[in-house]
Amino acid sequence: MDAVEPAALSAARTTRLEPGSPLVTAALDLLARHPADPAGRTCRRCGEAYPCSPGVHAAFLCRAAGLDPESIGLPAEAARWEPAL
Ligand SMILES: [Zn+2]
Repeated sequence: MDAVEPAALSAARTTRLEPGSPLVTAALDLLARHPADPAGRTCRRCGEAYPCSPGVHAAFLCRAAGLDPESIGLPAEAARWEPAL
């Protein structure tokens, strides 16, 4: 029997989602609703440490659509945010 290798978890490195799709639009809306406080330490919406879990997941999805973090109002380090599973 042939061994089956699982696919690499590289969603952020390949473009699989359409930037204008309802899913990506919803992620952008979610990001807009979870901004950092002026000091950049907590989320103004949910109070978690910034970036909050919803924001990290939404940013990850936007990256999968090929959107540059800075072009959608996120800090450059958002390119390395990974959702905690
Ligand atoms: Zn939040």
